[in-house]
Amino acid sequence: MDHPRAFLLLKPDCLRLGLSGPVERAITRAGLRIVCRHRVTLSPADVRCLWPEYHDAGHPLALAFLDRYLTGAPSEVLHLRGPDAFEAARRVKREVRSRHADGPFANVVHGAERRGEMARQADHLLGRCDACAEPFRSDEPPLVPARPPGRDFRDDADLTALVDELWPLVQGVPTPTYPGPVRLEGDDTGQAVYLGSDRENTLDSTVTALWHALPGIELRHAVLLALHAGWSGGTPIAVGGRRALDDCLRSLRAHGVHACGQGIT
Ligand SMILES: [Zn+2]
Repeated sequence: MDHPRAFLLLKPDCLRLGLSGPVERAITRAGLRIVCRHRVTLSPADVRCLWPEYHDAGHPLALAFLDRYLTGAPSEVLHLRGPDAFEAARRVKREVRSRHADGPFANVVHGAERRGEMARQADHLLGRCDACAEPFRSDEPPLVPARPPGRDFRDDADLTALVDELWPLVQGVPTPTYPGPVRLEGDDTGQAVYLGSDRENTLDSTVTALWHALPGIELRHAVLLALHAGWSGGTPIAVGGRRALDDCLRSLRAHGVHACGQGIT
């Protein structure tokens, strides 16, 4: 089934950094043309509608960062047409991100990774425009894959204030700030527990695992470790005695984090 229509969302950082021109040239190179442009300022409700794999009770950290990133400043939705537009738009997204993205909350453009996701999101974003409101069709069900939830950290902290505090630290160079490992009990063995990049988990499920595996860790510290590990692919998160490090690893795995191990500091 050919999909002659697609969309790309130019996020607030794309507009702020003046990257619309490079994105539009990449769209043209991909054989697509822009048939309509829509300036939108996304609301928290839009964010939850576009990414229903995240919900407030299970993913309050991811949503607090997404709200900070995507709401309150203008974005632009580009309605695209061209041969095999879905695949072409996805290639444009990857090309733009590989050149300009600067962290998970600074990745410039959004485009759907699955056809069902594109149809659902396009209908939400383009349905407000008379010229574009014809529904997208997809031969895939608009299935939303569940993402692992975490603790409801709204009970522990003012997450909006936490994200405001951390915001300058999670983008820019170096990306993001490394807060250092947690020092556990026992004599230093020269070993550390490392946390890797883990697409099977979410920010919330990873921070929740750290919360249990590193008892007493400050929430801001756990968030920075999780974000740094996602970027670096291997971040030392704890140092200390052999038994403490073994306990930490066991607890991470018990909480579903398997991209972890012990290594020399
Ligand atoms: Zn339109």
